[in-house]
Amino acid sequence: MGRLKGKKTLVTGGASGIGASITERFLNEGARVIVLGRSSDKLEAINKKFPTLDGTLQADVGNPVEVSSAFEEVDRIWGGIDVLINNAGISFRHNFLNITIENWDKTIKTNLSGVFYVAQQAARRMIENGSGVIINMGSTNGIIGHPNYSDYNASKAGVIQLSQSMALELAPKVRVNVVCPGYVLTPMQEAEYTEEMLRECESKIPLERMGRPDEVAALFAFLASEDASYITGQSFVIDGGEIAGGLASQ
Ligand code: NDP
Repeated sequence: MGRLKGKKTLVTGGASGIGASITERFLNEGARVIVLGRSSDKLEAINKKFPTLDGTLQADVGNPVEVSSAFEEVDRIWGGIDVLINNAGISFRHNFLNITIENWDKTIKTNLSGVFYVAQQAARRMIENGSGVIINMGSTNGIIGHPNYSDYNASKAGVIQLSQSMALELAPKVRVNVVCPGYVLTPMQEAEYTEEMLRECESKIPLERMGRPDEVAALFAFLASEDASYITGQSFVIDGGEIAGGLASQ
C-alpha cells in the first residue's frame, strides 16, 4: 500500500463494478482520485462512500464535447493528471444477426471512441507535463471470439490495438497498457447472465470461479505504479486461466 501516493488519477466508470474497486484500491494506495461517470445517483453514492475523493465529474465518455469540458474541470482541480484509468464501458448480449445499427453505434461510441476521446485529452496533458500512465480497459473478448457479443468484441479488440499504437507514439514519457479481464461478477454481468449461465461459465474456468473486482483493481494498481516502470504497450489477461487452453481446457 502507498505505492501511488499523490498520483492524480482519473477513473472513468469509477462509481460501480470494477471501476469502484479501482477507485477504492487507488485511494488505499494513497492516490488522489476523481471519478467520471454518467449517472448522478451513482456519482453521489461513491462520493458518500469515499469522502476523500478529490471530486466526481458527470460526462458521457462517448461525447467529445462533454469529455473536453470534464478535462477543463480536471485542470481547474488539479492542473494536470498523472494516471488515467479508462474503464467505462457497456455491453449488450445479442446475436450478430440481430444487432441494430443503433446498438452497434452505441457500443463502439462508448467502448472505443470513448476510450480515444478520454485518452487523447489525458495524453496531451501528460506529454506536456513530461510523464504519465494510461491503462485502458480491454477484455478477453477483444482477444478471442465469443458468441453474442460481436459489437462488444470488436470494440475491445480496437482498444487493444489503439493502446499498442498509443504506447509507441507516447513513449518514452507516457506508458500505455491494457487490462483484459475474463468473467468478473459486476452489475454488467448480473444484468446479462442468469445464475445458471454464471455457474456454467465457472465450470469452464480452470480456477473454477469468476474473478472479483478487487483482483482486477490490484492489477491496475501494479501497472500504474513504479513497479511497472518498464512495462508499456502490453495487454494483461486476468481470467482465471479461461483462454489459456482452447480445446485443451474442455
Ligand atoms: P459496470 O456496468 O458495473 O460499470 C461500468 C461503468 O461505466 C459504470 O459506472 C457506468 O456508469 C460507466 N459508463 C458506462 N457508459 C458510460 C459512458 N458513456 N460515459 C461515462 N461512463 C459510462 O461494469 P463493469 O465494472 O463490469 O465494467 C467495467 C469495464 O470492464 C467495462 O469497460 C467492461 O467492458 C470491462 N470488462 C468487464 C468484465 C466483466 O466481466 N465484468 C470483463 C471484461 C471487461 P453509468 O452507469 O453512470 O453509465
